[in-house]
Amino acid sequence: MRILLVEDDPSIAEPLVDGLERQGYELTWVATGADALNADPGDMVLLDLGLPDLDGQVVCRKLREKTEVPIIVVTARSDEIDRVALLELGADDYLIKPFGFRELVARMRAVARRSALALEPNPAGLPDAPMTLGDVTLDRRTRKVAVSGIPVSLTPKEFDLLEFLAQDPGAVLTRERIIEEVWDKHWWGSTKTLDVHIASLRKKLADTDLIETVRGVGYRLAVDEEGPET
Ligand code: CA
Repeated sequence: MRILLVEDDPSIAEPLVDGLERQGYELTWVATGADALNADPGDMVLLDLGLPDLDGQVVCRKLREKTEVPIIVVTARSDEIDRVALLELGADDYLIKPFGFRELVARMRAVARRSALALEPNPAGLPDAPMTLGDVTLDRRTRKVAVSGIPVSLTPKEFDLLEFLAQDPGAVLTRERIIEEVWDKHWWGSTKTLDVHIASLRKKLADTDLIETVRGVGYRLAVDEEGPET
């Protein structure tokens, strides 16, 4: 697996490159935002937010525009990032410096596992036909979503979230279960992240009724097979 490491501090980057290469990863190391945007993102990006030339959040967003590969953001506490905003920019996970090497590798594996499942052309058991959820169609094979036939662009996380809810339309899924399945068992961030992703999904789907909040419990897809009632 090829990793693009974006880190301007050699005292952090050098041991990371060594350590990750020992784990069998192929590393490309760049030290500026401009170089990051010109580099081949490989299979995963590790992105330091405090870069000398460009705002790391801008780099994150631009990387996400050009690639679907997972992005793990690494940030110093002093960067005072808005974590929720960061996930909205398309980061798949993040780590606060200082972090342990083993923790980093565990996160990378978790993110890679989810993304490998997502990138597999047709993982066993997935239906070929797109699902229809009211006005929304969801194609698991191509990871494309459309509303009334018009394609909408979801972040990888938003797609995962919708796909997870769509596994059992109508069923109530608890917040804990969604966080565990769509993010990670070891996710330690605020569960607000879930609400933020739900809010942006609803906005993109132009259908606030599809995803129903079950107060105090979680969410469900409100799919009425008889057609919408007014
Ligand atoms: Ca830095």
